Amino acid sequence: MKLLRYGFPGQEQPGLLDPNGLVRNLSEVIADVGGEALLPSSLDLLRNLDVTTLPLVSGVPQKDLRLGPCVGLVGKFICIGLNYADHATESGIPLPSEPVVFNKWTSAIMGPDDVIEIPPGALKTDWEVELGVVIGQGGRNIAESDAMAHVAGYCVINDVSERDFQLNRGGTWDKGKGCDTFGPLGPWLVTADEVPDPQNLQLWLEVDGKRYQSGNTSTMVFKIPFLISYLSQFMSLQSGDVISTGTPAGVGMGQKPPVFLKSGQVLRLSVDGLGLQTQRTVQG
Ligand code: ZN
Repeated sequence: MKLLRYGFPGQEQPGLLDPNGLVRNLSEVIADVGGEALLPSSLDLLRNLDVTTLPLVSGVPQKDLRLGPCVGLVGKFICIGLNYADHATESGIPLPSEPVVFNKWTSAIMGPDDVIEIPPGALKTDWEVELGVVIGQGGRNIAESDAMAHVAGYCVINDVSERDFQLNRGGTWDKGKGCDTFGPLGPWLVTADEVPDPQNLQLWLEVDGKRYQSGNTSTMVFKIPFLISYLSQFMSLQSGDVISTGTPAGVGMGQKPPVFLKSGQVLRLSVDGLGLQTQRTVQG
């Protein structure tokens, strides 16, 4: 299933993408795509619905129908840093011996095609295409062997980053990671049953038509089951938590010379099978 949220910002309704690429309204079935609606029992219920009986929503998603972030009520937005060897190299930082963990504030979350605001005072706003993992069944001290049973699904994330705030403002990285609009999620949450091998997905990102990032989740340093198990030693993972699993090489900071975003640019990014995001930049 491809679960989504559509409508005006802050007023999104839950929906799913039907086989014709149109949206069906789920608001009679679940309150939101988030929280307990992502538990395995709830996803089973949704999977057994006759989609043709659900109300058809007018408009074509991502054309004349805005999509919001594909997960609502996100409690935690957890990110893994330096999780691709080629990106650690371009960042000039040694490969970590344990996962680097940081946060994006949940107020950074926005729809997949909303506008990225370069914050006032920003000097080095950058991009990072990533595979997002969304937790279904929560837990703590989760065994690596059991970790994938805790995944509701996957989505595309752009871990938009202001490098000057991240690296030159006295710590922590979070200052440059959680600015408003720095967390587009979606277009859809693709349930785990439709992603047979999340460790073999191509992911790419373009700015103004130039492809800067092109990688594969097979080259992650720490794989998804390990990350879930690892994080759950330090916190309870809860339904609807989002884990952004790191970015491959090709960020702006890694170019020679470095390239950063300016107002009026267009970003396009995708992960295999999880849809496409398109964002325009403006000066905030
Ligand atoms: Zn990142």
